[in-house]
Amino acid sequence: MRAWRGVPAALAVALVAWAAAAPPCAIDERVTAVDPDVHPERIVLDPAWRLPPGYAPSDLVPVSRAGFASDLPLRAIVIDDLRALRTAAEADGVRLAVQSAYRSEAYQDAVHQGWVRQLGAERAAEVSARPGHSEHQLGTAVDLRSADGPPAWELDDWATTPEGAWVAEHAARHGFVIPYPRDGREASCYDYEPWHLRWVGRAVAAEAAASGLAYRAWLYRHHPPVEAAPP
Ligand SMILES: [Zn+2]
Repeated sequence: MRAWRGVPAALAVALVAWAAAAPPCAIDERVTAVDPDVHPERIVLDPAWRLPPGYAPSDLVPVSRAGFASDLPLRAIVIDDLRALRTAAEADGVRLAVQSAYRSEAYQDAVHQGWVRQLGAERAAEVSARPGHSEHQLGTAVDLRSADGPPAWELDDWATTPEGAWVAEHAARHGFVIPYPRDGREASCYDYEPWHLRWVGRAVAAEAAASGLAYRAWLYRHHPPVEAAPP
């Protein structure tokens, strides 16, 4: 009790509420029981929870179908909302490009190992998901950038560019959440990534955005992860 004596009551309540929203970011290999083909939006992917080994979506199509000058693959169910996002942006004079889309488990392994070599394992874990744990493996996550700009992570804060600011304001109404918010690592487990969008559908995106929670915390509250039975 002694440790709590100096904690103001309001802060103590906030800490308890926060703990209820999402557990700490532990490293584990727990396989989700949710079928990613059916409910990709309900799957917690964090350092503890992962997709079934080797999972790959069966409906990948090039993002050129959403009007982008790229053949990177994404699930077909995302295309209509991604096209609507792009055309709404262009109507406002904002030109976006796709930097990264679906990534296989093997490709994510290579990406993550690259970060480990560059930053060391501990820091790499905060900027890059381990293979099996990436939202990109769902085929419903996409990294955007400004059409005339470099990869967004090369900038201090892409959300301060006209393109990044537009996406921050309009992503949810087109069915996308931005799961790695500024100053949100305690809840999201990863660094701020204003360029990383996860498609969850318009109804869920609106609910999650209105909650003010990081998407991981929203999922733990509304769809807490359940472990798959061992094969
Ligand atoms: Zn990403």
